[in-house]
Amino acid sequence: MNERTRISDNEKWQAVINCARNYDSLFFYGVKTTGIFCRPSCKSKTPIRGNVIFFNNAANAIASGFRPCKRCCPDKIIFKPELEIIKKAKDIFHTTYNKQVNLQYVSRQLGVSINHLIKLFKQHTDFTPIQYISKIRVDKAKELLKQGDISILEIAYATGYKSLSNFYKCFKDQTGYTPSEYKKSRGEL
Ligand SMILES: [Zn+2]
Repeated sequence: MNERTRISDNEKWQAVINCARNYDSLFFYGVKTTGIFCRPSCKSKTPIRGNVIFFNNAANAIASGFRPCKRCCPDKIIFKPELEIIKKAKDIFHTTYNKQVNLQYVSRQLGVSINHLIKLFKQHTDFTPIQYISKIRVDKAKELLKQGDISILEIAYATGYKSLSNFYKCFKDQTGYTPSEYKKSRGEL
């Protein structure tokens, strides 16, 4: 987070234009004409640059007389613990992707409910935990297929699939190719 403490106004403005979610909690912006402040990711209409004022935190914006946006609720969300949960969840998924997914166990480790975990994860990464794990598995399978000397069945099991048909389906859904097509091309596809 430290390298982020000094973000130029220009960079902040780009984040506002792009509704960049990864800047949420790092700064807020108020719109002078409406008296409302938002998080960078707010999907409301992009204001005119000249009307925008940046704040480091929600408290400053409120102290300056701005009201929190009803759409992105910049005052309601406590970001840091959430980001921490996401980061820990990702770490767990990366080390356990080839085991059976047990979100109940993961959410208990993180001290949140399953539903909350899924909601947070989707909010911050655009993936559900299951989609995220599936992506890790397919990426890993691609690496192994490129090596060429491991059978597709072995790769399916090594990356956590219980059946070849499920492996084929997930692989094709994500890459557009079957594992055998990909293997034959040695990753050139
Ligand atoms: Zn907003």
